[in-house]
Amino acid sequence: MTVDAAALVARLGEVQARVARASERAGRAPESVTLVAVSKNHPVDALRVMYDAGVRDFGESYVQEWLAKADALPDDIRWHLIGRLQSNKAKLIDARAHLVHAVDRASLLDALQRRADAPLDILLQVALGDEDSKAGVSPEGLATLLARARGCDKLRVRGLMTIPPPATHPGQNLAHFERLRALCEAHSAPELPLEVRSMGMTDDFEDAILAGATHLRVGTALFGART
Ligand SMILES: *Cc1c(COP(=O)(O)O)cnc(C)c1O
Repeated sequence: MTVDAAALVARLGEVQARVARASERAGRAPESVTLVAVSKNHPVDALRVMYDAGVRDFGESYVQEWLAKADALPDDIRWHLIGRLQSNKAKLIDARAHLVHAVDRASLLDALQRRADAPLDILLQVALGDEDSKAGVSPEGLATLLARARGCDKLRVRGLMTIPPPATHPGQNLAHFERLRALCEAHSAPELPLEVRSMGMTDDFEDAILAGATHLRVGTALFGART
């Protein structure tokens, strides 16, 4: 697959402009929103184009694919692992992981804790608005999972993440995003703030900004459709 660098850079500019406009509407500084470029299934050359255009936050879903890309690309990239993780992959996650977004169960906490490495920053994934989803802890189960995570000395819980159902119209997921923000506030403790709110994808990131997202996970709008 050849990479159309001009198209990628143009899409990046469009998305950054949309982020800036939505931030302004929300009365937020654009720097308070981190755009994570979700590059799963896209070739290293496409990431390199985005890197050269200034992107430093990349999101990957599959551990082996991520490790190969991390080997090939500069080491000042902040790598976000955003996909559902199998517990047996936890031991492969090394210090190059900046933030693990989708921790949703006790067995995965235990597997991440057993890695002997330096402390790892994680987010707990909460299931909102998608009754069928097997990914994510329920809002009712969050306190229990959070207590367990805070008991793991190799893990630092930085905040929460959610993947609501795909949005077909503006405003559709706004209530879910506001709920995630409220959960972050409700479950923060003085020494243990939940400051990271990872929410918003290609079809709904403007609503996520309105509701207080700190990290957007945007793939298609930046890289085009995944094959
Ligand atoms: C693939 C993926 C995204 C990006 O989705 P787009 O709709 O392409 O922006 C965001 N978050 C997660 C968890 C993903 O797996």
